[in-house]
Amino acid sequence: MLKTEVLVVGAGIAGLTSAAILSKLGCSVTLIESHTQSGGCAGTFKRKDYVFDVGATQVAGLEKGGIHSKIFNFLDIKIPEATILDPACIVDLKDGSNPIPIWYKKNEWIAEREVQFPGSSRFWQLCSLIHQSNWAFANNNPVLPISNFWDLSQLLRALAPSNLVTGILIKSTVFDLLCICGLSKDERLIKFLNLQLKLYSQEDVYNTAALYGSTVLQICQQPHGLWHMKKSMQSLSEALEDSLHKTGANMIFGQEVNSIIFDDQNKCWKVFAKSKKCYLEYHANNLVYTPPPQSLLKHLKYLLNKKPSYKNRLKTLPDPSGALVFYSALKTKHIKKISSNHYQFVSNELGPLFVSISKEGDGRAPKGEITLIASLFTKTKDWFNLEKRQYIDKKKEYLKKISFELESQFNIDSEHWLHKELATPLGFEKWTNRPNGIVGGLGQNPDIFGLFGLSSRTPFQGLWLCGDSIYPGEGTAGVSQSALMVSRQILASKGIDNFNL
Ligand SMILES: Cc1cc2nc3c(=O)[nH]c(=O)nc-3n(C[C@H](O)[C@H](O)[C@H](O)COP(=O)(O)OP(=O)(O)OC[C@H]3O[C@@H](n4cnc5c(N)ncnc54)[C@H](O)[C@@H]3O)c2cc1C
Repeated sequence: MLKTEVLVVGAGIAGLTSAAILSKLGCSVTLIESHTQSGGCAGTFKRKDYVFDVGATQVAGLEKGGIHSKIFNFLDIKIPEATILDPACIVDLKDGSNPIPIWYKKNEWIAEREVQFPGSSRFWQLCSLIHQSNWAFANNNPVLPISNFWDLSQLLRALAPSNLVTGILIKSTVFDLLCICGLSKDERLIKFLNLQLKLYSQEDVYNTAALYGSTVLQICQQPHGLWHMKKSMQSLSEALEDSLHKTGANMIFGQEVNSIIFDDQNKCWKVFAKSKKCYLEYHANNLVYTPPPQSLLKHLKYLLNKKPSYKNRLKTLPDPSGALVFYSALKTKHIKKISSNHYQFVSNELGPLFVSISKEGDGRAPKGEITLIASLFTKTKDWFNLEKRQYIDKKKEYLKKISFELESQFNIDSEHWLHKELATPLGFEKWTNRPNGIVGGLGQNPDIFGLFGLSSRTPFQGLWLCGDSIYPGEGTAGVSQSALMVSRQILASKGIDNFNL
């Protein structure tokens, strides 16, 4: 049995970040991870001479003042090498019109928008105003959603007068903003926004909360921007692991949490985990839980029966998506000239595909070669409960269909693939331990965004949720915000309520 002040479950970016912050501030921290490596959905794997990013391929929040930078500076660790993506992405609507490069430089993006979507400037200006107000609010580290007086005090402290104005849009969608600007019938703009929003909020124009959508639509430009990590996405996790080593936190890999109970007598959490070789028991005052909250239905079974309304909330969370991810490699000369690391295009048969291509010399492929990763959303239930043969055939069929789409989009000869493989929700379930291989967080619609989301504070004292279903906005930047928020809440519960970055 191992005793610790804080036990963090999961070494994805959320778990690593919260463990690193709390350990840096002097808490005794143990982190357990079921996989043999860190990173979770932002991890990497190797095949032959290639390094593939499992899920996340681009990072927000590395700029000065961005969430990753602030946390890395606080932890006193080097920010991993990365380059700004300019353009962040080239979006091809496949409607015969010119593809849309999303430029990093603000003036270039404004000029591009005016050419691509004439008459839309009022919509972008409105998004920009809302975003500025959101950003000032987010920088004041509000606690959302509120579930006690301390959370409320943090929310009130973070609010600025502009938030009271934008607050009236709390139940609005991006489509409502388009209507306000007289653009509800601009099909091309709606198609473009649908592609981008689905990527960042798991919802379309009609369902993405206006307050959230306004911010994600500005994230590719100055002063923010999206970044391409040198070497691989794993460098983010490695840097956080370095901090944990420095501060003496205990990191244990290959241990899967099976069940969690609360010991009323000793007033602590008891966590039971198993590895290939043994079973282990951990005792902790605070438990930071970073797997998807849906996993609590399995791990916290007995305690949840005492809180039926919370159990019901977890049970009825909207179904998150699954992903199909195609990992491949080719010679640079065998693909048409690449002018961006990221592309998004629509396939009639498969829907939107998001493509990430490595940079020459970035450490992912040998000289003269590149890696190409393409991902698309899928319904997880379509991949489970299939006979083995059916599953294999379905996987082969999708591998073929995705290869074909990429071959025609990037002028690739089918003979020229040096490597290709496909991950389905089953693969994601195995890699990340996420039930049914669900990925990303909860769709950011007005019913689940901000005040209406799932709180990191659970009805069980000392049990905290953290990760991509918690803070508005998934992705490594969003989960880092959630890690900061949970760390502040834990510290406040210990009487330290002035911690901020
Ligand atoms: C295909 C895809 C593309 C993406 N693209 C981007 C992108 O370009 N940019 C971006 O910012 N984000 C992207 N994301 C989202 C981003 O990767 C995630 O939101 C983020 O990494 C989630 O971090 P997390 O720590 O909350 O969860 P996870 O990464 O899922 O980490 C949770 C960890 O907990 C461990 N765990 C689970 N259950 C247990 C258990 N019972 N016991 C012990 N350990 C357990 C898991 O093994 C895992 O390591 C993408 C995601 C996917 C899937």
